[in-house]
Amino acid sequence: MQDELTPEQLAELKTKLLVLKQDLQNDLADSSHSTDTVELDQQSVGRLSRMDAMQMQQMALETQRRNQQQLIEVERALIQMEKGDYGYCSQCGDLINPKRLAFNPTARMCIECAS
Ligand SMILES: [Zn+2]
Repeated sequence: MQDELTPEQLAELKTKLLVLKQDLQNDLADSSHSTDTVELDQQSVGRLSRMDAMQMQQMALETQRRNQQQLIEVERALIQMEKGDYGYCSQCGDLINPKRLAFNPTARMCIECAS
């Protein structure tokens, strides 16, 4: 059995989530810019480096997708915090271990259900 999160723990996790959100938004702003640049550069570079550029663009898009996904998770966690139902397992409804949340503030399931 797990004790409820203290207001201090919640405040700490909220700060983490907000920092994470800011980071993700910055990364997304940067990466949308860098994918534009790759597009423009393709005209002026040779075939091999063009393939490199395409590969890099692919990776940038992949990172962008992951960041977008994570941003959605962060926002979901923040909304749950507003509603006061943050930190509960979506499977069994038990409280998620605060150590697990500190490591991954967007964790949706307790360790038992996630494994
Ligand atoms: Zn669970």
